[in-house]
Amino acid sequence: MAQSAPESVTARYPGLANLMIDFNQMQSFLHDPLVIVEANGVRLTDVSGRSYIDGIAGIAAVQLGHGNRPIIEAMQAQLERVALALPLYAANEPEIELAELIIGLMPSAFTTVKFTSGGSEANESAIKLARQFHKQTGNPGKYKVISRYASYHGATMGALAATGGAARKAKYEPLPTGFVKVHPPDCYHCPFKLDYPDCGVLCAEIVDDVIRNEGPETVAAFIAEPVMMTAEAFVVPPPEYFTILREICDQHNVNLIFDEIITGFGRLGEIFGADVYKAYPDMMTVGKGISGGYAPLAAVIMRGAIAESFLGEREAGVHFNAGHTYSGNPVACAAGIAAVRQITDENVMAVCRRQSDRLRGHLNDMAARYDVIGRVDGHGLLLGLEFVSDRAAHASFPNDRLFGRAVGAEARSRGLIGRAGDHIWVFAPPLTSTDDEIDEMAEILDASIAETLETFD
Ligand code: PLP
Repeated sequence: MAQSAPESVTARYPGLANLMIDFNQMQSFLHDPLVIVEANGVRLTDVSGRSYIDGIAGIAAVQLGHGNRPIIEAMQAQLERVALALPLYAANEPEIELAELIIGLMPSAFTTVKFTSGGSEANESAIKLARQFHKQTGNPGKYKVISRYASYHGATMGALAATGGAARKAKYEPLPTGFVKVHPPDCYHCPFKLDYPDCGVLCAEIVDDVIRNEGPETVAAFIAEPVMMTAEAFVVPPPEYFTILREICDQHNVNLIFDEIITGFGRLGEIFGADVYKAYPDMMTVGKGISGGYAPLAAVIMRGAIAESFLGEREAGVHFNAGHTYSGNPVACAAGIAAVRQITDENVMAVCRRQSDRLRGHLNDMAARYDVIGRVDGHGLLLGLEFVSDRAAHASFPNDRLFGRAVGAEARSRGLIGRAGDHIWVFAPPLTSTDDEIDEMAEILDASIAETLETFD
């Protein structure tokens, strides 16, 4: 049953009218505003006392659930010691410890971590680091960045230029130059109209051709998310995709960057997407789950070969020109240490893999009953489904009949929050979700699809 409509939230919070919330048309948001006041485990409570199950872990960040005491206490203790150190002049203890912890999770070729306060900033930094690396290693002409259509790498100008979806970018053009796009490995909507595996993974192989045509001496980096999940696209590459890309990048001295802002820290049932695909980049950007969603924190993790080119005496001028006020913030890093320790020490990933199977079972069961579900896909606890108007043709609903949006609205009215796009629904719940919680999420989604089928025209 749908929960009752909220009381006048806008009357209670006149200040809501002073807010701009990303991706929301504020006028319509104010018609039915959601104000969350408390959270515990997978449950969120709004100001009217309505309860929601957080099927999206904030936004794929709250890996260990809400109200996690060790993280809260670590942050509180750090606040008592020092809240902001001297980011441009000094290191602080939590950032040193967290860097060491993260490097311990990586293959030995990785040596260095540069912290930022968000994923966009991490990708922005990785792109700058790649360009600077090539400049100071004898390849000053390498500046282009290849990325994939439909990808999302962040909201700042460089990260947005690397982002694939045209709709997100159009209003901010012209964007920085030097960004080239290729098709993602979207087997369900293959742009080459081929079938895997007969396709020979053309979407990866063609990158060699693209680099040769651009001129290898101009290409600095290739950036990709191991599993792509935006409101527009949901792409899980075939197993050999990243191994092929790794070889191509090596051949042309192109830095391979994995954007693991979503996939890092256990989301796919391994620490990193790189561990799932058994291919390691030159730089990896992480965010979201690194602090369990408790503090704005992200990072670029890089190989020694890249970091070493930034070593030198002051006059060498090879330092990274950034100067982020919140880089390595002690309170954020204290949250990071507590979160990363739990994710790795308490075998959270084994739970994640088990719950992934459970949730996938529910989604497959729904797909067997509802023709409107074209596919179930994903990895770990990043699992979703795509709605189609014609299953055989993999055809989407038209723009004026967005089934995914309708399911999203219905689910919210029933107390479930997920990533509802025009045509997709994605679950990315806390990795620690219990059996009952996973079942409840699936039950509400199931009922929401059934209800939407009844009422949708
Ligand atoms: N990269 C990916 C894959 C993301 O999903 C996001 C955010 O959702 C970002 C980058 C940007 O991170 P942030 O929102 O922390 O700036």
